[in-house]
Amino acid sequence: MQTVQLQVRHTLDASGRTVAANTVYCPFTARCVSLEDCGSCQHAHVDPRRGRFACAHPAVEMDPRDLREPDRTRVGQVMTRNVFCVREDVPVATVAQLLDSQSFSGVPVVDEQGRPQGIISRADVVHLCAEGEELNLATIPARDVMSARAICVEVSTSLSMAAALMAYQRIQRVPVIDQEGKVVGMLAALDVLRWLGEADGYLYGRGHTAH
Ligand code: SF4
Repeated sequence: MQTVQLQVRHTLDASGRTVAANTVYCPFTARCVSLEDCGSCQHAHVDPRRGRFACAHPAVEMDPRDLREPDRTRVGQVMTRNVFCVREDVPVATVAQLLDSQSFSGVPVVDEQGRPQGIISRADVVHLCAEGEELNLATIPARDVMSARAICVEVSTSLSMAAALMAYQRIQRVPVIDQEGKVVGMLAALDVLRWLGEADGYLYGRGHTAH
């Protein structure tokens, strides 16, 4: 039995409110489903010891190679599942606070449905500040500063393909989107390194662990 992996998208809006959207990555369909759909699935099983539900799909005893070979492993199995996003009208000053408080190098900028519209990074904020002392970051929206070209990968993308894309594009983090194009996670170079360590037994802990 495998503990169901919950993923949370936190989206900060211009009023300072953060809205959380929960989904679950289903490894058997390589798709994201709502928590409710997963909970009502015929294979869902409540784990009374942990107060969580687990997946009792008959194929749950996956071929171990599926989690040890990068062309069999899906991004949805490796990504960071707690992702912070901002709406396009959030002031840059607020974005800068978020980046600083969470030690993020960048965050996806999303629309109302959670679809990526761009990425705003520390470098974008630094470049803006370098333009002049008269700028008021509290009045400049994220959409005016973000890089509008958001390179994303889907949850069903193989880890090897995602790693190749990141290396080719020289980027360290990519938003991960579901089958509807909504952000559900982030894949960082560190996640790929962690997976490499775990696959060879040097690290232990995140593969099937709930959070
Ligand atoms: S309980 Fe059903 S929807 Fe949830 S992970 Fe298992 S097979 Fe997928």
